[in-house]
Amino acid sequence: MSEIMSTITVSVKDGDSASMEVGVSVGDALGALLSNKQRKQTVAARIDDNLVDFTTVLNTDTTLEPVQIGTREALEVLRHSTSHIMALAVRDIFGDEVKVAIGPSIDDGYYYDFQRSEPFTPDDFDRIETRMEEIVRAALPFTRTTMASADAIAHFKELGESFKVELIEDLGAETVSFYQVGDFVDLCRGPHLPNTSFARAFKLLRVAGAYWRGDENRDVLQRIYGTAFFDKKELKKHLAALEEAKKRDHRKLGKELQLFTMEDQIGPGLTLWLPKGSQLRRLIEDFWKDEHYRHGYELLYTPHIARQDLWKTSGHLDFYSENMYSAMDIDEVKYQLKPMNCPFHIGVFTSSRRSYREFPMRWAELGTVYRYERAGALHGLLRVRGFTQDDAHIFCRPDQLADEIVNILDLNLHILRSFGFAEYDVYLSTRPEKSVGSDENWERATEALKFALEQKGLDYEIDPGEGVFYGPKIDIKIKDKLGRSWQCSTVQVDFNLPDRFNLEYVGADNAMHQPIMIHRALMGSLERFIGVLIEHYAGAFPIWFAPVQARILNITDDQAEYCEEVYKTLRKAGIRIEKDLRNEKLNYKIREAQKAKIPYMLIIGDKEKTEGTVTVRLKNGENLPAMPVAEFARKIHEEVVQGRGY
Ligand SMILES: [Zn+2]
Ligand SMILES: [Zn+2]
Repeated sequence: MSEIMSTITVSVKDGDSASMEVGVSVGDALGALLSNKQRKQTVAARIDDNLVDFTTVLNTDTTLEPVQIGTREALEVLRHSTSHIMALAVRDIFGDEVKVAIGPSIDDGYYYDFQRSEPFTPDDFDRIETRMEEIVRAALPFTRTTMASADAIAHFKELGESFKVELIEDLGAETVSFYQVGDFVDLCRGPHLPNTSFARAFKLLRVAGAYWRGDENRDVLQRIYGTAFFDKKELKKHLAALEEAKKRDHRKLGKELQLFTMEDQIGPGLTLWLPKGSQLRRLIEDFWKDEHYRHGYELLYTPHIARQDLWKTSGHLDFYSENMYSAMDIDEVKYQLKPMNCPFHIGVFTSSRRSYREFPMRWAELGTVYRYERAGALHGLLRVRGFTQDDAHIFCRPDQLADEIVNILDLNLHILRSFGFAEYDVYLSTRPEKSVGSDENWERATEALKFALEQKGLDYEIDPGEGVFYGPKIDIKIKDKLGRSWQCSTVQVDFNLPDRFNLEYVGADNAMHQPIMIHRALMGSLERFIGVLIEHYAGAFPIWFAPVQARILNITDDQAEYCEEVYKTLRKAGIRIEKDLRNEKLNYKIREAQKAKIPYMLIIGDKEKTEGTVTVRLKNGENLPAMPVAEFARKIHEEVVQGRGY
C-alpha cells in the first residue's frame, strides 16, 4: 500500500521541528523554525555530512543543522560567495572584454580567474570594489537552477565562455547546477549565502598570473585574490596582519640583512648564503649537531650522487623520477643526484654484518638533496631546488620502536623550543588504501607513534589514510609569532626500504631478522627553517644565534685605533662582532645598526678609550654603564649559554 506523501517533518538539530510541504526550501524551513535572531546568524545548513544553502529543496524528513556566522564553514561559504560577487562586478564593468573561469574559497580568502587582454590595475580594483559594494547593498539573492548539460554547453558557447564549456564537458554529467546573482550566471555546485548583503567586509588584495587548470601549456589567466569576513573589525585585523607579514617577508629581510641571495647566473631555486646568512646557518648546524650527539646520535656525511642502480633498488626511479634531475655518465655508468639521503644511510648499515646488540643505530646527517620543482612553484627559501635536510635514520628492533619514537620527539621538541617555537599542530597519519607491510606491523607502528605523542603530552589530530604507502607518520607544524602554521618536523616509520634492500641482522636467537627503519627531519630543511625563523623574529634573532651580536661605533676618528683593538679582542673571545668606523655622524651609524637589527652597539668615545671600556647601547636606545671589554664578552657568553641551554 502506498500513499503519496504531501508533507514531511523538518527539524532543526537540538531544536524545533514542524510538518511542512514537500519541496519546501531550506531557507523557508529555517525561516519557520528559527528565531529571528538565529536566522540572521545563519548562512547555510548541514544535512548529515553535506553543506547546503537556502535554495536546497527538501523532499523527505530532514534534520537541519544551521551553519552560523563564527564557524569556519560559514566563512568558506561567505568567501566563495564573494568570489561570485566579484565576478559579477567584473562582468558589469568590463563586459565582453573578460572571460570567466573559476572562483573558489582558499585558506585566507578567495580568488577568481579571468581572461582579459589588458592587465587589471589598482584603479580597476577600486572600481570593482565600488561595484561590489553596490551589489552587497542591493541584497541580491543567489538563486539556483539546473540545466541539461547539452543546453548549458550551447548557452555558454553562445556567450563565448569557452572555459565554462570545457568544465561542463569534462564533468560529463546529465545535468549541471547554476547559481545566478544579478544577471551573472555561473556554473557552480554551491553552497552560497542566502543573499549578497552578508558580504559586508571584503577587500581585493592582488592579481597574479595563473595557468588555466594549472597547466603550463594552457592560457595564462589573471587571478584576482581577495578576502572577506562577516565583520569589518576582523577584516581590519586580517589586513593589518598581512601588512605585518609583508614587513617580515624573508625574501625582503634576507636581502636587507644580507643573509642570502639567488642569482640568475647560478639558477632559480639555488641559494647562495651570504657571509651573515652562512654564519647564521653555521650556528644552527653546530647546535643541531651538538644536540644530536647528546641525544645518542652519530653523525654521517654521504655523497651527493650515486649510481642509478641504487635509485632503482630504492624505488625512487619508479616513484620519484619526476622530482629527480637527469642522469650523468661517469665511466659509462649512469649516476644521479640524490633527492633523498635514505639509501646512503642504508649503505652504511649494510657495510657490515649487524647484530641485535648494536641497536638502536641513530644516524643523522645534514644532507643536501636536489629535487625538481616547477619554476612557478619556487618561493624564496621556502621552496627551492637544492636544500639541506636535517635528516636522520634510526634502525631498531621492533621491541625498541616505541622508545625510539619517544626519544625522537624529545629531541624534536627540545630543538623547536630552543628556537622559540612552543606551539604546534600535530597530525598522526594512518594507513592509506595502497600500502606495503603487514597488518601487524602497521598496527604496532601506529600504536608506537600514538604512545610517544601521549608520553610527550602532545595533542594531535588523526589524518585517517594519509600515511605514506610505506608506513604511518607524525607531522608537526609550528606556529609563528603571527599565528601562521608551517610544516616542519616529520617522523615516518618505514617497512618498505628494509625490504627492498634486504636489511637484516642476527637476532638473539641466531636467526636473521629485518630491522625497522625510521626517517625523521626536525627542522625539515635548513633553508625552510631559516626562512621561517627570519619571519618569526622579523630578522631580530636572539643573541645565541644572531649572526652579528654587536657592532662597534666610534664617535670620532680619534678612537679608531682603540676600536680596532676592541674589535680584535672581542673577535678572539668568540664574539660575533662588526665595526662601523666610517666618518659619519654617530646618530646615522646608530640608525644603520638598528636597521641591521644588531642586538648591541658598542659606543666608543674618548672616555671609553682612556678608561679601556665600552658603552653598551641596547636596541631600545637605553645605555648600560661603561664596562671593561672583557666584561662585555662575559655578558654575551652568559646570554648565549642561557639561550642555547649550555
Ligand atoms: Zn559558487
Ligand atoms: Zn629517509
